Amino acid sequence: MNSTQSTGRVAVITGASSGIGAATARALAADSYRVALLARRLDRIDSLADELGNGAVAIQADVTDREQIVAAAQRVKDELGGADVLVNNAGNMLLAPFSSEQRADYRAMVEVNLLGAITATEVFLDQLKDGGGDLVNISSVAGRVAAPGSGAYSATKWGVNGWSESLRQELLPDVRVTLIEPGVVDTELPTHITHEATRQAVQQ
Ligand code: NDP
Repeated sequence: MNSTQSTGRVAVITGASSGIGAATARALAADSYRVALLARRLDRIDSLADELGNGAVAIQADVTDREQIVAAAQRVKDELGGADVLVNNAGNMLLAPFSSEQRADYRAMVEVNLLGAITATEVFLDQLKDGGGDLVNISSVAGRVAAPGSGAYSATKWGVNGWSESLRQELLPDVRVTLIEPGVVDTELPTHITHEATRQAVQQ
């Protein structure tokens, strides 16, 4: 444990404003972790931090903006003493038939799901290494199984898997790397799909 003020380990969760990230924050807080909640929707993470107490902090940060992640890491260091655990959970799943019309979606998924996780990790790595930490990457069953319409999303999750396996070998014994590959979980994830017919089909 690397925290100077600690009553428990410190966990940083990206995408903590809803779904799996918010549930993870609640579970870790119930297990005495002090949590740093990162997301773009500050109102959501502010109210979750209030609900959780125990030193929980809400930090507005977009994982595609490295400067915001650097600023978040500084706040975690100053206010919580440093991160013991980083959960790379922020993600989007913009399913659609493969088409030039969806090209903005492809870039968004790579920038959030893959590059966002890589950026958060390289920024927080020194904190994780200081005392022995855990890196937890949220991939998906879509990182192993591809279906029509999921190509770019699967590519990002396949990428997370390969990157995680490399880091797993490279970072031991300083940092333990865990890869989680959930199946379908009922969250707001499909509500952001931009291709209308696909969004309706997935939500049904
Ligand atoms: P949600 O849509 O509920 O949560 C996604 C989270 O990511 C939100 O908190 C959102 O916060 C955050 N996020 C999105 N873009 C950014 C960004 N640019 N910067 C920072 N945060 C961002 O979906 P889930 O909880 O379902 O998804 C969480 C993870 O689980 C994702 O990686 C997803 O791929 C994975 N997963 C989900 C499955 C499912 O069936 N639900 C199955 C397998 C994997 P905000 O908008 O406030 O920034």
